[in-house]
Amino acid sequence: MPWLGLEGHDAVVERFRRALERGRLAGTYLFVGPAGIGKRSFALRLAQTLLCGVRPEAAMNPCGACPACQQVVAQTHPDLLLVSKPPDKATIPLELLIGPPEKRTREGLCHSLALASFMGGRKVAIIDDADDLNIEGANSLLKTLEEPPPRTTIILIGTSLEKQLPTIRSRSQVISFRPLAPAVLERLVLEQNLAAEPEAAAHLARHCEGSLARAAELADAELWKFRGELLRRLADRPLPALTIARAVNEFVEAAGKEAAAKRVRARTVIGFAAEFYRAMLRIGAGAMVGDDRDLAAVVAAAAKDTSLDVDRASEQLDRTLEALEHVDRNAHLVTVIECWLDDLARIASARRVAV
Ligand SMILES: [Zn+2]
Repeated sequence: MPWLGLEGHDAVVERFRRALERGRLAGTYLFVGPAGIGKRSFALRLAQTLLCGVRPEAAMNPCGACPACQQVVAQTHPDLLLVSKPPDKATIPLELLIGPPEKRTREGLCHSLALASFMGGRKVAIIDDADDLNIEGANSLLKTLEEPPPRTTIILIGTSLEKQLPTIRSRSQVISFRPLAPAVLERLVLEQNLAAEPEAAAHLARHCEGSLARAAELADAELWKFRGELLRRLADRPLPALTIARAVNEFVEAAGKEAAAKRVRARTVIGFAAEFYRAMLRIGAGAMVGDDRDLAAVVAAAAKDTSLDVDRASEQLDRTLEALEHVDRNAHLVTVIECWLDDLARIASARRVAV
């Protein structure tokens, strides 16, 4: 049975159930795992469990109907504090943590946590986008994380342990969330109407890296049409870098007005190219590409009419992964895409000295 409608994280549910039964809830948790697999939903359900005015928390079954439960769902509960990175910022602003300059330490998360609970029970803070805490921000939190006020639970949410600053890691109890299993994903994709039939659902489940949010981003026929064209052009010799850059930039621009939507699409498209180079490397190593028919056909053809150069493909993959990092770091998209393709072409045409 999924816990409160949330699938795939039974081990984590059990861990919290045991901790609550023993009265051993930690002050600071760090949730890590791929984006879009339900970490934030889990944190909110845990907050509901801890704040429900009717049922004991150890039951891990909040009533869902009392005012406290409803306020958690509406995210208006006065003892539930939520911090996340604003969409237009690259890091979590310091003022959200310790107040604006003129009211330093008299506003912000740390100040709110130090105040008594409004409802007389626990206080819960959820800090989303912990990957985007800068050193200054992390430092401002250290004292609070080290010694949270009594009956306070702080949950930081990030995508991987490596992306967290050591000072944060060492003060938190780490809870790892696993990607969702393909069978669970296929069912959820159908339930949420992201795909109309099982075959399409299986296709999305294969590509979404265990993340339902990612599946939603990928549930777009245009995207797959573009992928087919992109893969074919990546296999062309010489690499038509300018043509591809123009097409990619147009496609990214068409994702919508919002910068976030463009960034998601840029990440997806560059990710398709990474798949292409990974597949080239697999073929180079004598392995099969897998059950992705489009990719297998393009890569097989590319490997046949250019003598496959594994070092070159490996260098192109590295450069592609670097471009993905730049997208994640909010670099200017058009520039990232142009420089990336420029470099791919340069690597493709570089003469190699035979040894
Ligand atoms: Zn309740």
